[in-house]
Amino acid sequence: MRAWHDVHIHNYLSTCCGDNQATVDNYIKAAKDIGLKLMGFANHTWDESIPLPAPSSFYKRQSMAFEMQIKSQIPENVPGLKILVGAETEYCGMYDVLGMGKEAALQLDFLLIPHTHVHMRDFVMPSTDDVINARANLAEIFEKIDGITPERAASLSRKLSEEELEPFMKEKNVDYVKFVSDFMVESFRSLMNNETLKSYSDLMPVSVAHPFQPVGSYSLRPDMLSLIDDNTFGDLFSIAAGRGIGLEINNCAHAPEAIRLFAIAKECGCKFTLGSDLHATSGFSRILDTEKAINALDLTEDDFMDFVRV
Ligand SMILES: [Zn+2]
Ligand SMILES: [Zn+2]
Repeated sequence: MRAWHDVHIHNYLSTCCGDNQATVDNYIKAAKDIGLKLMGFANHTWDESIPLPAPSSFYKRQSMAFEMQIKSQIPENVPGLKILVGAETEYCGMYDVLGMGKEAALQLDFLLIPHTHVHMRDFVMPSTDDVINARANLAEIFEKIDGITPERAASLSRKLSEEELEPFMKEKNVDYVKFVSDFMVESFRSLMNNETLKSYSDLMPVSVAHPFQPVGSYSLRPDMLSLIDDNTFGDLFSIAAGRGIGLEINNCAHAPEAIRLFAIAKECGCKFTLGSDLHATSGFSRILDTEKAINALDLTEDDFMDFVRV
């Protein structure tokens, strides 16, 4: 079966986009070139009526008021192509805070919710003890430099990634693969039980963006997913199916470790959406790579959420 839609597209209103040619008009051209019938914009959006659980300069900018500018950029009628306006909000698993309230959500055609933005440390996922110790060790080194205050030293040490901090971990006590794997299971479960989401998930289409894909630690995904057994996936996906919450299939979904989880989801009765997570107009055709997963899972139109069926 052909991939006929892509409902995970970021245009330049997402500040991580970095492509000023990523306009609605250019995406429309690209979508028509590859024969899509439906596309949905899903810029990063934090509903400003929800207090941020921790500082985030990124989400401070990505408000509803800012993101909904896109509505005025969408032409009224594009023959052969349906265009939807949704959003990719945030779920801060470590705080059980969802970045989209009911009133804002109901202004959208659909909502994508990620539970695996694990690169957003101390906002989505807590830092491991190894990282906390490495930051302290590094701050001590910075403090020895003339003119650097302890505050500045601490702030500099917070800017480094897990990988960059590794040389400053005197000893490693945390199994990072297991830590993230456990986090993804718990964040999926707590998202399903989140009270804010419960207040509107049966009133509008909601799909989980890149489920169980650890953003920023993608190369570790096979190891991380191998720690999650079929029964655990079955329990989690049965809740999603029962609530009518979909799962996103992207261009990385045909890897064996991902096919295992999507096959369980299908068996549980979950419905799917397709999304490329594009942040630039180049490489638009990568949504067609989802056909590998569609075929491997033997999906038909009935396996997809109603709002993506045209
Ligand atoms: Zn995402
Ligand atoms: Zn995205």
